Amino acid sequence: MDYRILLFYKYADFPNPDKFQAEHLKFCIDNDIMGRVWIAHEGINATVSGTKENIEKYEAEIRRYPSFSDIWFKEDKYTEHAFKKIHVRVRPEIVNSSFGEVDISMAAKKLTPEELNNLYENHRDFIIIDARNEYESKIGKFKNAITPTMDTFRDWQKIVNELEPFKEKTIVTYCTGGIRCEKASAYLVEKGFKNVYQVDGGIWNYVNKYPDKFWEGSVFVFDERRIVTPNTQENIKHIGECFYCGKASSYYINCHNQECDKMLVTCDECKIENEYCCSAECRSAVNKRKRFHG
Ligand SMILES: [Zn+2]
Ligand SMILES: [Zn+2]
Repeated sequence: MDYRILLFYKYADFPNPDKFQAEHLKFCIDNDIMGRVWIAHEGINATVSGTKENIEKYEAEIRRYPSFSDIWFKEDKYTEHAFKKIHVRVRPEIVNSSFGEVDISMAAKKLTPEELNNLYENHRDFIIIDARNEYESKIGKFKNAITPTMDTFRDWQKIVNELEPFKEKTIVTYCTGGIRCEKASAYLVEKGFKNVYQVDGGIWNYVNKYPDKFWEGSVFVFDERRIVTPNTQENIKHIGECFYCGKASSYYINCHNQECDKMLVTCDECKIENEYCCSAECRSAVNKRKRFHG
């Protein structure tokens, strides 16, 4: 079947999220759209799936709202729904940051994929920093990127304090689709960093144009696919390492001891050998998940 997965966001003053929520949920149900849509006074953030025809209708529906008429949809082909449910929710923020008020108009200048290639190819002196969580950067990152130990995006504030010595340097931030970097980069600018850039449209926009170039490994995505592997060259296809044997892998499991539930990168062989568990202790735990489902 011919399905599409859409990823999009926009920061825009949006006056009546509650009204949108009710209308939009109905539209999604009527047109068999699945996924999650967050709406707030500051804008929209969504990832949804549907048949090609329904997704076309969906795009038109979103663009009907003047605040979102120029929205950019990142589209991926797929063979089925990438979600099992539809959630349309009114939220205080479209991405959880808890930085307090960040002035989005301060967001850094956007670098196109071509401009980012130029920085690399001309050996420019720049620092590239991953604004995603550690479990995302573990299996994929831009070449030479700093990958901070972040459990959630809320940790960004702490990371920025550690970047203090690089205030005068050229700094490039990136995330999956760009939404986190609008805030992450604005926060850097607010803190007095002088030359801050963000990768326009995030990793998605880059790897779609330039697989096998400066992106290394896989991309963690927030739908049922979980992992997308854009590169074809073996040496940069997988940069994650199997928790048990160290072999290159991008495959994640949650430890099947439900009390533990730790996320681990594993290779195929080791996950079976270890019964989908992170330790001997978890293997013998009482409330292990019964069925193996990766
Ligand atoms: Zn292994
Ligand atoms: Zn465990």
